[in-house]
Amino acid sequence: MTQTASTPNHALATQLRESRLKAGLRHFIGGEWVDSQGGETFQTHTPTDNSPLATVASGDARDIDRAARAAHDAFQTWREVSGAERRKILHKIADLIEVRAQDIAVLESIDTGQAIRFMKSAAVRGAENFRFYADRAPGAADGQSLPAPGFLNYTLRQPIGPVGVITPWNTPFMLSTWKIAPALAAGCTVVHKPAEWSPVTATLLAEIMDEAGIPQGVVNLVHGFGETAGRALTEHPLIKAIAFVGETVTGSHIMRQGADTLKRVHFELGGKNPVVVFEDADLEGALDAVVFMIYSLNGERCTSSSRVLIQEGIYDEFTARIAERARNIRVGDPLDPNTEVGPLIHPRHCEKVLSYFDRAREEGATVAAGGERIGTEGNYVSPTLLTGARNEMRISQEEIFGPVLTAIPFRDEAEALALANDVKYGLAGYLWTRDLTRAHRFAQALEAGMVWVNSENVRHLPTPFGGMKASGIGRDGGDYSFDFYMETKNIAISLGTHKTARLGVGGPAKVDKSEVEG
Ligand code: NAD
Repeated sequence: MTQTASTPNHALATQLRESRLKAGLRHFIGGEWVDSQGGETFQTHTPTDNSPLATVASGDARDIDRAARAAHDAFQTWREVSGAERRKILHKIADLIEVRAQDIAVLESIDTGQAIRFMKSAAVRGAENFRFYADRAPGAADGQSLPAPGFLNYTLRQPIGPVGVITPWNTPFMLSTWKIAPALAAGCTVVHKPAEWSPVTATLLAEIMDEAGIPQGVVNLVHGFGETAGRALTEHPLIKAIAFVGETVTGSHIMRQGADTLKRVHFELGGKNPVVVFEDADLEGALDAVVFMIYSLNGERCTSSSRVLIQEGIYDEFTARIAERARNIRVGDPLDPNTEVGPLIHPRHCEKVLSYFDRAREEGATVAAGGERIGTEGNYVSPTLLTGARNEMRISQEEIFGPVLTAIPFRDEAEALALANDVKYGLAGYLWTRDLTRAHRFAQALEAGMVWVNSENVRHLPTPFGGMKASGIGRDGGDYSFDFYMETKNIAISLGTHKTARLGVGGPAKVDKSEVEG
């Protein structure tokens, strides 16, 4: 592990701990910062050494109820605020995020263990998410004109109502903006329940939105645990939809919890994404992308390419080169600008990731690089490559969610496709080949919501983001987000030329087929 001298980031971290965290984190409900009604709190820790970081209000059903009512009341006016006005406020939020990007990045680093080099970009991306949806707010309600014989049909979109946003601990700031920005642009109000392991930047985001002029109750923040605050949010009758990012199993719980109130759900869940490298690929480019997509963000990213499928003729050489890169990765203090991999979020998650190294050996795979805990303090794990794996092994099927790559050889295209699809998840896939026709063929047959050919994950905001199979339900991005946060309504205006079939006048009524639907 690399040792770090004190940097300006460390000085800022000390100052932010004092000014922002020392007093504890509270809920933000109806425009006020409040404690839990039951007065309960919980403690978070920094992954660098697991020392206490913040005391956080622990919400339960009472706090969620208060927040849901505030969101419900605010919805009656927020839905009427013009798109142009919403646009202005969302741009203001983006401005303030940009001004405070360094604070956000430093707080995110000490809260989650993510390296500062990535967190600054993640904060800036958060601002961009608000700008993107700010500019779409004026057109969010737009629909279509669908003329029919005797009728003018037109559609319009209306915000669904107060929505719950439940976010995970990995890159929590960026992910929260990705949900909250389109909800607000659509005219919905929000109750946000961030992950209990990383609540810090959610607090800052609420503060920024308040400062930018979001009316009281339009955005509410309730901290707490999934089984209490999260559950109550998914069950609350005033909450019309749940946008959730997290584990697949939690998605199933939420679906069950929301059944009685018929919640609309949007799920972004786990992944075990394949990156397929054919012998004809640009191998230098492929190597960079493979290494980046598993070891960046500590491997704690849903789109990480955690299974690399390599054609057998290049398998040994390519895995040797990945192993060499993995050994050179700088693991260390997340606040050091040179650090590439920081500590994992929590001791429990660290233990989970470490447990896969013994499992790999038991299953007959080889630990070709890494495979161990680093140091005695904090949750540091060495960037790891597991070779000689078969697709049926647990290291090939389960989401490890750490800096751990499983390498599997394949013979030909048919086998590569079979292996790539033989997993319960279907979030993202990556493909490296110079054969254009194969690239199209393979990309179309890959069971994944998103496919990148000859590239790592490069996100373009208008495009749909989301997974199939056990990786999710629904898509984010562009107009797709509005499909979730809004109801589409059809209005049919008779032009006066249509005659209704007459009942109660005797004789056989002539009924047109268009009159007997539903
Ligand atoms: P998690 O499912 O444990 O928790 C996510 C959130 O759900 C937290 O806020 C938690 O408090 C809450 N929660 C837990 N139980 C709940 C319940 N019964 N009812 C309501 N809320 C509940 O996930 P995590 O460990 O925080 O995050 C990591 C997971 O997120 C990984 O599986 C990762 O792949 C996934 N993820 C997916 C995407 C995507 O776009 N597909 C993006 C980021 C992360």
